[in-house]
Amino acid sequence: MRQSSLFPKTLRHQLSDEPSANAQLLTRGGFVFKNSAGVYSYLTLGWMVIGKIKKIVGEEMNAIGGAELYMPALVDRKYLEATDRFKLDVGFDVLGKKDRNAIYALGWTHEEVLTAIVSKYISSYKDLPIYLYQIQTKFRNETRAKSGVLRGKEFLMKDLYSFHVSEQDLFSYYEKVKEAYLKIFKRCGLDVYFTTAGGGAFTMSATHEFQVLSEVGEDEIFYCKICKTAKNKEIMDIEEKDKCKVCGGDILRGNSIEVGNIFPLGTKYSEAFDFQFTDGNGNKHLVVMGSYGIGISRLMGTIVEVHNDVKGILWPEEIAPFRAHLIYLPSNGGKTRGESEKIYDALRKAGVEVLYDDREDSTPGEKFADADLLGMPVRIVVSEKSIAAGGVEIKKREESEVRILGADKIDEEI
Ligand code: ATP
Ligand code: MG
Repeated sequence: MRQSSLFPKTLRHQLSDEPSANAQLLTRGGFVFKNSAGVYSYLTLGWMVIGKIKKIVGEEMNAIGGAELYMPALVDRKYLEATDRFKLDVGFDVLGKKDRNAIYALGWTHEEVLTAIVSKYISSYKDLPIYLYQIQTKFRNETRAKSGVLRGKEFLMKDLYSFHVSEQDLFSYYEKVKEAYLKIFKRCGLDVYFTTAGGGAFTMSATHEFQVLSEVGEDEIFYCKICKTAKNKEIMDIEEKDKCKVCGGDILRGNSIEVGNIFPLGTKYSEAFDFQFTDGNGNKHLVVMGSYGIGISRLMGTIVEVHNDVKGILWPEEIAPFRAHLIYLPSNGGKTRGESEKIYDALRKAGVEVLYDDREDSTPGEKFADADLLGMPVRIVVSEKSIAAGGVEIKKREESEVRILGADKIDEEI
């Protein structure tokens, strides 16, 4: 993509009202635009990042048998009334918060909707287990919407739900989801702690969270660096605050961001919708369920919180909107322009995702500052100097020294 046609331009100044790094850098880079507190538009580069995250999450969900679907954001009150959740203040009523005539809520989670659907089709043990997920906009009446895209009133979530004949089958799948989540977060360049949290109000045992250490995180965990496990503050016993029970390592305390969670739900929802299956002997049982969330948009913010320096973002390889940022520096005879165009074409032909700074009216300083702010993994500069030295100047975002490389070697190098 040519930077001359990229919308919007970057903002050079610091934003005085955005204390968090993700809000600051994502806004200045033109990845997102804040419409209201906790309500964001995703602009071209930001939407590309979201696309990369969705791709990783989708691949790992499919790898454990998940199948994607898409449910309505408008949730009829009949679903939420079945579990007595319509009264909760978590979501928004479509006709206004306090309107008792509201027919719909803006969905904040979809256990009820999906259980109602699946129960219409499945009645035999032969049709179980089944694993269904969606990536969808969720709505939460968050009063503490802050910290950029980390906590929104509107945000993107991946929600997976599993349906089983037994608790045992649920827990064997629960382990698979755990492993899939660890792969997802690793591919996103994040170091996560598998964190034991309290049993949710209705769940039958402990629930688990995936936490990333960060000063801006609203959660607090006690973690072991060696075995990468943690306990949420809420369930921490005093005597455990010293040594790790798993491996004997030191226990440390830190603020953290919850990027995902997994819940054994038991039969709460199948009971509410009378969702039963018949076993091999003709006996009926309630279906056992699990639910598993990942905050897709929160993940983007978390990656920025972890991967940034004073100059801007450093996107992990699989998340960067473009693999390379090709920078053209104008020269008197127009020689660098021709060379830059040639390299841009060759890279695209080789299948390299490249952002091409083809702007005539920006200074080298402005171009370099943009490249640092936007954070593509590799920077390639075409200048008179680089051509005289035999090619292009190349460096990784985290490196300070550039190297000269023959133009025909770029593809191979990156
Ligand atoms: P939190 O404790 O942070 O409020 P939660 O327990 O309400 O999260 P879930 O309702 O289970 O979380 O949502 C699943 C995932 O969606 C969370 O793990 C988190 O990554 C993300 N998420 C939850 N609320 C928000 C929000 N308001 N903005 C952005 N992401 C969110
Ligand atoms: Mg919440």
